[in-house]
Amino acid sequence: MAEDKPTVATACMCGCSGCHMSFLDVDEFVKELAELLEFQSSHVIMDIKDIEEVDIGILEGTITNEENVEVAKEMRDNCEILVAWGDCACFGGIMTMRNFEPVEDILEECYIGKSDDESEIPDPEHVPALTEKARGLDEVIEVDAYIPGCPPSADIIRYGLEKLLEGEIPKLDKDKLRY
Ligand code: SF4
Repeated sequence: MAEDKPTVATACMCGCSGCHMSFLDVDEFVKELAELLEFQSSHVIMDIKDIEEVDIGILEGTITNEENVEVAKEMRDNCEILVAWGDCACFGGIMTMRNFEPVEDILEECYIGKSDDESEIPDPEHVPALTEKARGLDEVIEVDAYIPGCPPSADIIRYGLEKLLEGEIPKLDKDKLRY
């Protein structure tokens, strides 16, 4: 990591932003963090989505479409340590329920359903195409650290960030994974 403040970028794949919201539950630790690291981009924290080179890249959500694949690879290429943030990013989460059905059937059900109007499945030019399966991050890119939970608790987030700032990869034993 760089000698001055470590830089951080966060981004969302397909998720509910709940993992990012949980970050706000660290309360006054946010003030300490502001002294210890520098957020360079984050759609939630500062509404900047361009990913530049950073020390720590944090990704929330499942990879379910081609845009997610692109953003995940971009973050991987631009960060030293990549953190999977929350169950969706770590394991695929609730989005993997769609893996039991073919993509074509899911699109048909969601966009057409029983409607008798002129509904259409959107062109991938306008809405990113779904990947064949919904996947956790490490099925697509290399992941260095996992912060699980749906969403991760404030305690785990704090522990994870503290370890990363100490230059260590956080290891969560079973005591930290009990809710
Ligand atoms: S892990 Fe839970 S809180 Fe986080 S994005 Fe997925 S569904 Fe939302």
